[in-house]
Amino acid sequence: MSASSSARQIVILLGPPGAGKGTQAKRLSAALDLPHVSTGDLFREHKAEGTPLGLKAKEYMDQGELVPDDLVIDMLFDRVAREDCSKGYLLDGFPRTVAQAEALDARLDAQDGEDSRRIALHLEVADSVIVERAAGRLTCESGHTYHKTFNPPKVEGICDVTGEKLFRRKDDEPDVVQKRLSEYTAKTAPLVEYYEGRGILCTVNGEVSPEDVFQGLLGCLEMQPTNESAHG
Ligand code: AMP
Repeated sequence: MSASSSARQIVILLGPPGAGKGTQAKRLSAALDLPHVSTGDLFREHKAEGTPLGLKAKEYMDQGELVPDDLVIDMLFDRVAREDCSKGYLLDGFPRTVAQAEALDARLDAQDGEDSRRIALHLEVADSVIVERAAGRLTCESGHTYHKTFNPPKVEGICDVTGEKLFRRKDDEPDVVQKRLSEYTAKTAPLVEYYEGRGILCTVNGEVSPEDVFQGLLGCLEMQPTNESAHG
């Protein structure tokens, strides 16, 4: 499966923090041959490089709060203006507010009009499952993730891929996870209705195995509505 040559394909992954969007995004990106664009990763790169944007974003990220819309939107639009996104892209962690979704739609409408295929894939996972997953999640500096119980590294505390030490991301600490979940409920969950209203939402149970989630998402893409119904 790959993006059609004429219509730009935009795949949006929606779901609470820790629902598995990053894992699925990597697989979908390979299957669809579309670049994986994660605003969380872009912010982490800025943070690591110590750019002014990274320093600003850090204040919010470390508290489990959303970074203000204008900062996110500018950064995302810069990223998707690059050549590798010309046939489309897969968004992971964006949009996270209705204002972000509206900005994206306005950009795509202005760019492509009817000629962009958009689909929002919604990973549904209960809060209790999110809390349990976050409590065991470990990551390395390069962003590979593991789970103490569900997906342990071969050698305890060491990344299989890079050999770096594993640690718990600040935003996986229990108080931060609670804050991120309440931000999700208040600001991002309304996007489910937003995309449902546009006829482009497909919801998948995110509590099953990563492979089963992936198959569910592929099923959504196969049933993707045509441009006419998506814009109706
Ligand atoms: P993620 O890795 O997608 O969970 O993102 C990590 C953190 O980056 C979030 O908790 C937010 O602080 C920030 N962030 C990432 N994407 C967005 C976005 N679209 N809007 C606002 N903040 C974001």
